[in-house]
Amino acid sequence: MDYDDDTRSTAGDEASESSETESTSGRRTLLFHVHTHFSFDSWMSPELIVAFARQFKIDMVIVADHDDHRGAERCAELAGEDGPLFPLAAEYKSTSGDMIAMFLNEPIESRDPIGIIEETHAQGGLVALPHPFKYSNFDNEVFRRADIIEAFNARTSDRRNAKAVQIAQELGKPTLAGADAHLKRELDRALNEFEVPDDWDWKRVLTDASRTARVKKTTVRNIRTSAMISAVKRQRPLKLVKNIVRWVQASSTATP
Ligand SMILES: [Zn+2]
Repeated sequence: MDYDDDTRSTAGDEASESSETESTSGRRTLLFHVHTHFSFDSWMSPELIVAFARQFKIDMVIVADHDDHRGAERCAELAGEDGPLFPLAAEYKSTSGDMIAMFLNEPIESRDPIGIIEETHAQGGLVALPHPFKYSNFDNEVFRRADIIEAFNARTSDRRNAKAVQIAQELGKPTLAGADAHLKRELDRALNEFEVPDDWDWKRVLTDASRTARVKKTTVRNIRTSAMISAVKRQRPLKLVKNIVRWVQASSTATP
């Protein structure tokens, strides 16, 4: 599947009229769905992520650690005033599957999927459903009330990504491509690009602007590597051995 074929405009994309004020329109880039060492299955440092975003001139990064907002917070501190931007965000494990809440003022307490959506919206934030057909069983109401569907996830099978594309199309939801990066070499797996008009803000861009994405699936070995990190961090030696064996068995180029 070529993700670019599935991306589409969800709103008008008129070129901005010339104006006397400085134009802010143009292309903006977003790296969506990145983990740091605050997640149980990553060792990536916030310093490394901020340096990567600066090197490749990425405008915004959604750092979404598992049930932990400290990775996003630390990246924002490191990036300082000049950016790139790191809004407060996390990937919460709801009772029906993972949900990314972003543009938060404070962490989300609820773990009920509708509760997460309502708390996030009460803070003015947005909810995206990452890999919504992997480890998830969301009902229609969750899909309907979520703001964004992750229609490509670099660690998810083509079949499950295709289902995510399909439901986004059926519901008319905007889509994002997620790197789901747990390792440095996964930071380049998905980049979202937007054409923004004058007087734009990021939340409106994420829900309304036309977009394209450059994507590349990760490898089975990368997934096994983060499973090994998880086994070490959680002190599960059997899981570690199992994943070492699977890492050896997997070809270095196979994709999930
Ligand atoms: Zn994730």
